[in-house]
Amino acid sequence: MELSTHEPVFPLGRWFAEAPIQGFRQGYHVRREIYQGRSPYQSIQVIETDLLGTTLILEGAVQTSSVDEHIYHEMLVHPALCALAAPRTVLVIGGGDGGALRRVLEHPTVERAVQVELDRAVVDTCLKYLPEISAGAFDDPRVELVIGDGARYLAETNERFDAILVDSTDPVGPAEALFSEAFYRAAFRALAEDGVFVTQSGSPLLMGAELGKAARQLRRVFPVVAPYLASIPSYPGVIWSFLSATKGKDLAAVPPAEIERRLEGIVTRYYTPAMHQAAFVLPADLARSLAAGQDDAVGLLPVSAAVSR
Ligand code: SAM
Repeated sequence: MELSTHEPVFPLGRWFAEAPIQGFRQGYHVRREIYQGRSPYQSIQVIETDLLGTTLILEGAVQTSSVDEHIYHEMLVHPALCALAAPRTVLVIGGGDGGALRRVLEHPTVERAVQVELDRAVVDTCLKYLPEISAGAFDDPRVELVIGDGARYLAETNERFDAILVDSTDPVGPAEALFSEAFYRAAFRALAEDGVFVTQSGSPLLMGAELGKAARQLRRVFPVVAPYLASIPSYPGVIWSFLSATKGKDLAAVPPAEIERRLEGIVTRYYTPAMHQAAFVLPADLARSLAAGQDDAVGLLPVSAAVSR
């Protein structure tokens, strides 16, 4: 069967498979189809799978699951916030499931968290079917939820944030603007002098072209860009990448003792001071191709995803 990019398929009626590139798909046995709808921006599905529990799918791509959401959200939020002595203001772009917001609010110094999510339907769907992910975060008095385009918000805001975290869908459709140099320039302007910017940047195995392009563009704007990895079973290829960027701080060099102190009272299941350090260690090929600023040959495989997209 011919599979097009990110098209949801249910072969045998009981499987969901994500096929981000030709020649690869990652599938889950579906126990139950819970919800299927369409917002003005995207198709929205919620299914229950044997492995991942309740799973949110947007435009045919798995976004989060009740079983492994903690890995992605801890690794998007804690490396940035634990690099800061006292983060007070945080901007989250995307992340309609609320899992990133919840981890931001776990840091006791945070006084204000703005979340800009394009699609109210994602927030509402997650509140209804996956409430355990946000766990009340949207009701926290420190939170301002803005329904709108994150790129536009960032371009127009006069606020300065200690951390800007981009919890976006893949760089197609409405999320494309969140991977542009103009967006990174707006983030630089809106970031405090010692602040931290982090964006999810896809699978280094299957989406090397996108990762390479994002890293190259970020490096044109920020003096320090440090990629890091986490293993997230629900995302295609499992190994997932993040790009951190700062105006000088080296996230990879934050002393474990400082991280330990900043994590006091925060319960994590994946992130630890040692995991922070380990996450910034990249396989040789990936480190080399990212450092070389290549556009379409970045990745863990010698033949990049660019070949088949
Ligand atoms: N954890 C996920 C991943 O890496 O696959 C991302 C999950 S989160 C639900 C992604 C969110 O980004 C979606 O709810 C989508 O509506 C939102 N989004 C996409 N483009 C956006 C934009 N331009 N501004 C704000 N939010 C956007």
